[in-house]
Amino acid sequence: MNKFWREKKLSEMTEKQWESLCDGCGLCCLHKLEDQDTHEIKYTNVACRLLDSKSCRCKNYTSRKTMIPDCVVLTPDQVSQFHWLPITCAYRLVSEGRDLYPWHPLVSGSATTVHSAGISVQGRVISERDAGDLEDHIVCWED
Ligand code: SF4
Ligand code: SF4
Repeated sequence: MNKFWREKKLSEMTEKQWESLCDGCGLCCLHKLEDQDTHEIKYTNVACRLLDSKSCRCKNYTSRKTMIPDCVVLTPDQVSQFHWLPITCAYRLVSEGRDLYPWHPLVSGSATTVHSAGISVQGRVISERDAGDLEDHIVCWED
């Protein structure tokens, strides 16, 4: 296996390598709340309207920023800000010099292991259209 993520900086990766780092967990597509005092980021179980809760993929990845202006398109020059990403996110792991987990598709060779390992949001989120007050939906996904 070519472990390019151990050999290259994020800024050195090809577009294909960069895109393949995403494990498809869907966690970054959830609404988050930031504590005004501590700046702690709290995740909810409320998903962006474009997230397919079954596949955990964006329904319109190519036009995501046009359709959802708040969508954060990750780029290598934002590495210093990746602390808001979930601790399992490959971009955060690599930016912190850590290796990918065994369930990551690049390691396991299967796109479904992120789901079977219980990492993804598959079947565990509601749409922002139905959610109401985000404060009522704060969830710790790391448990
Ligand atoms: S949290 Fe990271 S690995 Fe998961 S979907 Fe978002 S970018 Fe991909
Ligand atoms: S637009 Fe797509 S990639 Fe962006 S937050 Fe929504 S579901 Fe995720």
